[in-house]
Amino acid sequence: MMFSCDCCGCCCRNIGDSPIYKGLDRGDGVCRYLSENLCMIYEDRPVLCRVDDCYDLYFYKSMGREEYYRLNKEVCKKLKAREK
Ligand code: SF4
Ligand code: SF4
Repeated sequence: MMFSCDCCGCCCRNIGDSPIYKGLDRGDGVCRYLSENLCMIYEDRPVLCRVDDCYDLYFYKSMGREEYYRLNKEVCKKLKAREK
């Protein structure tokens, strides 16, 4: 099972709210590595940008995978609504 991402790029355009992404923020809440809605460092992107790896490394301790995906989807939905 893998997290289903539609590659909308909303998360990469809205990193300003989270201090853990501070090093990626180009100053306006958009990631410095986003170019034309694509991640320029996709293969080498930080683990914080990898939903499934984050689960396997950290979140598996506190919740099931389905619950983790559900929570991530909620964030996706909120970010998408913000850009409408
Ligand atoms: S907001 Fe969600 S669906 Fe859109 S790119 Fe990010 S993880 Fe994927
Ligand atoms: S490094 Fe890539 S995947 Fe991570 S926020 Fe930036 S553009 Fe998005």
